[in-house]
Amino acid sequence: MAATYAAVKSIAPGGLLADRAYEELRAAILESRLAPGTALSVPALADRMNISRSPVREAVQRLIHDGLARHVPHRGAVVTSVDVEDLRQLYVVREQLEGLAARLAAERLDVTALTALEEILAEHGRVVDEGGGEGAHIEQDMRFHQAIRTLSGNDHLIEILDQIQGKAHLGLHSLWRHPRAARLALEEHQKIYDAMAAGDPDAAELAARNHVARLRVRLAQTASAPPARRKDDQREHDDHPPEGTDIGA
Ligand SMILES: [Zn+2]
Repeated sequence: MAATYAAVKSIAPGGLLADRAYEELRAAILESRLAPGTALSVPALADRMNISRSPVREAVQRLIHDGLARHVPHRGAVVTSVDVEDLRQLYVVREQLEGLAARLAAERLDVTALTALEEILAEHGRVVDEGGGEGAHIEQDMRFHQAIRTLSGNDHLIEILDQIQGKAHLGLHSLWRHPRAARLALEEHQKIYDAMAAGDPDAAELAARNHVARLRVRLAQTASAPPARRKDDQREHDDHPPEGTDIGA
């Protein structure tokens, strides 16, 4: 069991232990330090992280809520496994919901909210410029989407998107890795922001849907590409994906 969790860091004293355990485990899953299907044993993780069991138990419950882990009978919590077809279907749903969130957020936007979104984009830009790594990029990517759905003010929508966000990002980043992934995401986030800042809910919805549709296309290309074709894909993605790749969007 010790080797399974070798890449999980111990938690130093201070702060809310459950929060810090959650953040470390979430990062370990999103950065593939904990592989899909890995059992999340509370006693073993508590040993590894050098904290008591109850904050670890709470952290694992939050990972289940986020869709990053799931409860399996007789095994307990395991890291979510990503199936290409399941993920494709999830992205069909996510495309509509993120579009709705952006529309509702654009209708309610005020100066404070715009400033908060600008700060997230600026931080994301710094991470991308400085080559801050996959984990830091995913963190900023998720923050942006979380801010938009919070701004939507619709609790049902927030709850559903909270639940699918973890799996959506986990799947995307484990199946589609590309040197320009972070920059493409940032450019698309900027388009969503621009439409919101212009006070245009229609354009905001479209930009958000296009962003998720493009992620879905990238996933489809990855899933269908034999290894020999990956070099071509690489070249194609070096530039912004052509509009024609937005299948069904
Ligand atoms: Zn995004």
